Amino acid sequence: MANSKYEYVKNFEADDRLPPSNWIVVRIDGVHFHRFSSIHEFEKPNDSAALHLMNSCASAMLKHFPDIVFAYGVSDEYSFVLSEKSEFYQRRSSKNVSLFVSYFTSAYVTKWKEFFPNYDLKELPYFDGRAVCYPKAKEVRDYLAWRQVDCHINNQYNTCFWMLVKSGKTKREAQLRLKGTQTKEKNEILLQQFGINYDELPEMFKKGSCVFRNKVEEIVKIDESRNPVKRHKNIVTIDHVDIIGPKFWDEHPYILH
Ligand code: ATP
Ligand code: ATP
Ligand code: MG
Ligand code: MG
Ligand code: MG
Ligand code: MG
Repeated sequence: MANSKYEYVKNFEADDRLPPSNWIVVRIDGVHFHRFSSIHEFEKPNDSAALHLMNSCASAMLKHFPDIVFAYGVSDEYSFVLSEKSEFYQRRSSKNVSLFVSYFTSAYVTKWKEFFPNYDLKELPYFDGRAVCYPKAKEVRDYLAWRQVDCHINNQYNTCFWMLVKSGKTKREAQLRLKGTQTKEKNEILLQQFGINYDELPEMFKKGSCVFRNKVEEIVKIDESRNPVKRHKNIVTIDHVDIIGPKFWDEHPYILH
């Protein structure tokens, strides 16, 4: 396109490239999902279909954007980790955030029927997003641990809260009952009042969801000498595991490599 006298306005754009050699974490979060979940009658505190829908969208993200090396999701949020070496859109923050938010939202709307076949969308879901840089893999792990600890704390509180409400307490009463209680006491309420062993709740509720590429070996064919010809394949996998301790990272050293 030929230059025009108006083109100088382009210079008003800020350079928002994120610093090199940093891991990039883009976290998206559903806007007003407290209301969205209530309008669409999500089961409280954890609607499985809604969580599986979020996971399916995250999985689509990893399939579409090779620069995403890991994702962690809980409730209405998902964090996407990009490699420190990523040059995706020259590491421009607004490009990365807007691409992720819009792709995820499109997937959420498109896949809605698959997970909620009997519910029409009554309101448009939308997400906000932000990008944060972490210079070292250790900090990315601490970031993810922070989200997973948050998942645990919220899930434990919410499980107690909703059991109290479902058993007839008002929300205010349930809130007062739980005020100042420690983990141990919440577990006792669950066990003694409701016969629920917290440890036996679904892993997806307790640990949130991790999405990553799992290296698997597959046999492509058997050659003339009857030996299997193998190749390595990266399969996008969803799992609900501890990412606070070293075990997962020791078993998947290539993810934050
Ligand atoms: P904001 O716009 O500031 O993010 P919000 O209403 O989305 O506000 P959040 O702090 O993001 O608030 O919390 C998300 C809310 O969505 C939770 O309080 C929870 O009630 C609801 N929610 C999200 N996912 C689920 C789910 N799978 N099952 C039940 N409720 C859910
Ligand atoms: P980028 O991802 O960099 O934005 P792009 O392929 O979207 O790449 P643009 O410069 O944004 O490229 O141009 C949009 C292209 O989309 C146009 O070249 C045109 O071919 C096509 N397009 C968009 N809207 C229409 C339309 N209403 N009718 C026909 N073609 C359209
Ligand atoms: Mg928020
Ligand atoms: Mg939200
Ligand atoms: Mg949230
Ligand atoms: Mg375009």
